[in-house]
Amino acid sequence: MHAPPPPARRSTATRLARLLLWLAALGLLALAALWAWHQPFLERPRTLWELSRLPPPASLPVPVQGVAAGRIADTFGAPRGADREHAGVDIFAARGTPVVSTTRGVVVAIRERGLGGRQVWVYGPAGEHHYYAHLDNWAPALAEGDVVQPGTVLGTVGNTGNARTTPPHLHYGIYGRDGAVDPLPRMRTAR
Ligand SMILES: [Zn+2]
Repeated sequence: MHAPPPPARRSTATRLARLLLWLAALGLLALAALWAWHQPFLERPRTLWELSRLPPPASLPVPVQGVAAGRIADTFGAPRGADREHAGVDIFAARGTPVVSTTRGVVVAIRERGLGGRQVWVYGPAGEHHYYAHLDNWAPALAEGDVVQPGTVLGTVGNTGNARTTPPHLHYGIYGRDGAVDPLPRMRTAR
């Protein structure tokens, strides 16, 4: 047989007071975190987090002002040279026509490079990346990290990159987790 343990020194009331103090501190911490989460300096991570939890949009507007979805040729997957397929659609319009974001998103890249020439990449709903290429120019105030909405101007239609020998057009592509997705069916379901 063991001797019974000595009686606790601290009273139940003291323990309860300590517990309440801890809970109050945790509550304050949670409030502070919530407040910070909604401050402008955390808008980008908050938007990225919210976007990653959204489903992919079933319908999308046409990203070139004044162009109807019915006028866009279905060229997704068409062969381009010996070893490449067209991973998007080409939307023809006069040089300088505004190119707008189709979704809410975060601008993750603004650059001039390779086939796409002057391009903008937007991280959108469901973590899909939207690729706007061959731009004549970028929207003057646009910067990497910007949060954009559907209709935010990203740049203007041009023929930079490997489009330099073709009439001005926007190459628009969507890349999901499993690779390129055809944007055209989504634009055709939009009204
Ligand atoms: Zn193209």
